[in-house]
Amino acid sequence: MKSDAQNLFPAVGVGTKAIHHGKSFAEDTGTVMPPIFPSATFRHGNLEGFDYTRSGNPSFRILESVLASLEDCEHASVFGSGVSAISAVVSSLQSGDLVLCEENLYGCTVRLFETVFKKFGVKTIWIDFTNQSSLEKINILNPAMIWLESPTNPLLKIIDIKNICRVASEKEIPVIVDNTFATALLQKPLELGATLSLTSTTKYINGHSDALGGVICTNSQEWDNRMRFAQKALGLQPSPFDCWLITRGVKTLPLRIERQVSNSSKLADQLAEHPAIKWVRYPFRSDHPQSDIARKQMSAGGAIITASLKADLKKTFSLCKSFSYFTMAESLGGVESLVCHPASMTHASVNSATKSHLGIDDSLVRFSIGCEDVKDLELDLKKALDTLL
Ligand code: PLP
Repeated sequence: MKSDAQNLFPAVGVGTKAIHHGKSFAEDTGTVMPPIFPSATFRHGNLEGFDYTRSGNPSFRILESVLASLEDCEHASVFGSGVSAISAVVSSLQSGDLVLCEENLYGCTVRLFETVFKKFGVKTIWIDFTNQSSLEKINILNPAMIWLESPTNPLLKIIDIKNICRVASEKEIPVIVDNTFATALLQKPLELGATLSLTSTTKYINGHSDALGGVICTNSQEWDNRMRFAQKALGLQPSPFDCWLITRGVKTLPLRIERQVSNSSKLADQLAEHPAIKWVRYPFRSDHPQSDIARKQMSAGGAIITASLKADLKKTFSLCKSFSYFTMAESLGGVESLVCHPASMTHASVNSATKSHLGIDDSLVRFSIGCEDVKDLELDLKKALDTLL
C-alpha cells in the first residue's frame, strides 16, 4: 500500500511521511486535511469498492496508508483498539494451537489469552524471551505462533526480535511483535523478521488521549487477508471519527517522540540518582540488562520509564497522586505525562503469583513521559520523591 509520493521519493524522511503519506480521497476539493467519512454504507458498485463500514471505509484507508508508509510495509489494517487488533490475530488460530508468549505482556493481552481464548482451546506457554533457552523452547515446542512485546509493559524488557525471528522462520512460525511502546519510528519489527507488527494507536500514534485504535502491519498478503476478514467478521473495526483523529495526531508523531525521548533520557537519569528509588529501567541506560539489544534494534530508548520505589503500597499510591503534572492514569504515549501503578491498574487482571514471579510489585511505578518542559517535570518528580525521604 505504498503511496504515490513514497514510490517517487523512497528515501523521504519520517517527518514528511507522517504529514504527507496518507491517501486523501480529496483530489477534487484540494482540502489540505483529509476529510472524515462517517457513512455506514456505500452505493453498490462504487469505484473504490466500499460497501459497508464494518468491512472498510475511506477514513480507515487514509489512516492505513500513512501507517503502512511509516512502517515501510505493504499492508496495514486498522482496528477499534489495540485489544481489537490482538483479538483479530488470535482469532486466526485453531483450537489446540499453542502460542509461545513472552511472560511479561500487557495485562489485557494476558487476560485475553487466559480467560477468553483458552475457552476456545487456544493454548499458551509463557516464557522469558530474554533468556537464551527460549530459542531451544521454540524448537522443542514448535508453537503455532510466537507472541512478543518489546519493550515490554511495564518492565521494559528488551527482546532480541531478530534472533527469535531467525529461529522461528526456520520452522515457518509466525512472530507477532506488539510494538506499542516503540512505534515504527523507533523500531521496525518487520525489518527484524517479524510476520506482524501490532500497535495500539491509542498511545503514541494518536498522542492526544482522545481516541482508541489499533493497527496490524505486515508484508504478507495472506495475513492481511486474514486481518481484513477478522475486521469485518468479528466487528473489530474502528470508528471513522477515531481514524480521523488518529490521522490528525500521527502528523506530529515524529515531533512528539523527539521531545518525549529527550525528556525521558534526562528524567531516567534524574530518577536513578534519587535516594528514594531502588532501581530504574530505561532501555538506553547502560544499567538496563538488555541495553545492547535495545541499541541494536531501536533508534532511541522511548518515552516510558519504570522505577521501583523504596516505599510500600500506601506510600507509592500517595506519591502517584501527589504530582502536579504526572496524572495518575491508565494508558501512555500522550502529550501529557502520566504515572501508573501497574500492579493495581494495567496488570490488575494478572494473577498475583505471576506478578510476583515477574516483579510487578506494589513499589513499581511506570511513568509515561509527555511533551512538557523538562525542567517542570524534573521539579515535579523531585518534590514528590523528596517526600519519601
Ligand atoms: N499493547 C500494549 C503494549 C499496551 O500497553 C496496550 C494498552 O495499554 C494495548 C496493547 C492495548 O491497547 P488498547 O488500549 O488500544 O486496546
